[in-house]
Amino acid sequence: MSSTDCLFCRIVAGEIPATIVRSDERTVAFRDVGPQAPVHVLVVPREHIFSLETSSDDQGDLLGALMLAARDVARQEGLAEDGYRAVLNVGADGGQTVPHLHVHVLGGRSMDWPPG
Ligand code: 5GP
Ligand code: ZN
Repeated sequence: MSSTDCLFCRIVAGEIPATIVRSDERTVAFRDVGPQAPVHVLVVPREHIFSLETSSDDQGDLLGALMLAARDVARQEGLAEDGYRAVLNVGADGGQTVPHLHVHVLGGRSMDWPPG
């Protein structure tokens, strides 16, 4: 898939509107259009990576930046004290529907375990 065909690449490029809550040189975070909790933010790398499974060993710095960005989003959204869920859905069985790596940051309510 080229970046022009990818929904999240197009959000990163500003071609599709989204409510951006944080951005830096390597990541962008925006509100999920179908929130599953009072706070539901997606954190994505600017670079197109299909999923965690297709990430490469030399992308460790970027994956670390993605996790730290998710942490900062949670702090900025006021979730740090009560806690939150940070989720990566990977592939079909993982429930991934958008083929651009993203971390869901969900909070503002108590979460169940195990997930469905
Ligand atoms: P996945 O199922 O791939 O882990 O998560 C994809 C997420 O992207 C879903 O929670 C879905 O609501 C969200 N999503 C799908 N299309 C859009 C969109 O156009 N804009 C935004 N902000 N979120 C989207
Ligand atoms: Zn993409």
